[in-house]
Amino acid sequence: MSAAWRSDRRDGSPNRTGRLDMIVGPMYSGKSAELIRRVDLARRGQLSVRVFCPRRDTRAADRTISSRAGTHAEAIAVETSEEILSYVDSTVDLVAIDEASFFDLGLHPVARALLALPSWVVIAGLDLDYRGDPFGPVPNLLALADNVDKLSAVCVVCHDLHATRTQRLIDGEPAPDGAQIVVELSDDRVRYEARCGRCWVPPQFAAGGTQLPLTTFRASP
Ligand code: ADP
Ligand code: MG
Ligand code: ZN
Repeated sequence: MSAAWRSDRRDGSPNRTGRLDMIVGPMYSGKSAELIRRVDLARRGQLSVRVFCPRRDTRAADRTISSRAGTHAEAIAVETSEEILSYVDSTVDLVAIDEASFFDLGLHPVARALLALPSWVVIAGLDLDYRGDPFGPVPNLLALADNVDKLSAVCVVCHDLHATRTQRLIDGEPAPDGAQIVVELSDDRVRYEARCGRCWVPPQFAAGGTQLPLTTFRASP
């Protein structure tokens, strides 16, 4: 596909359309590593690439995204999803966005605008939060996507290779229900783990949690 995306082939060909690839899964599943790998490939193929992350992602130094596997890519940290549009025009071949779950809901219309340019867009993010709820703009982006790669991690409890959940722990114990994005506790009290569906403790069953029936779902975050 890359050849069709080179800037020098921008000839108005009717074959050229926008494309959205999503990379989702729990924490530690390799989403950032996979996004960075695709960015590296595109750069090697001499495509023009822009990489974005939300500024609220405190792990990101302002000019890079990184994976726990140790790889990095230069990135632009933006305050709002709409800001992405000010850095992209039709000469950009690939727009890569990490930590999509921490963006505002406007990331969905922004992705539609990028596809209309047309751009090739690759977006990585958590599909579910630690409560098991769809996370931020990601569900709408999944609906829009041309391709979805749903990655899994290794369950830290039973070592199952198909961990699809993110467990939030406070002082080492499964966390009860709380805000979707947690800012009030200092980082050393809060940890996250990848867990399989059997080992993941939903917040309502954690000590101190509200016992909601399993059929209760939130309408919004
Ligand atoms: P994500 O962006 O999905 O959080 P990263 O790309 O940052 O993931 O990191 C993936 C890397 O994390 C893996 O390649 C592996 O080296 C490491 N890792 C640490 N804990 C786990 C785990 N429980 N399951 C899988 N990989 C893990
Ligand atoms: Mg990541
Ligand atoms: Zn498990």
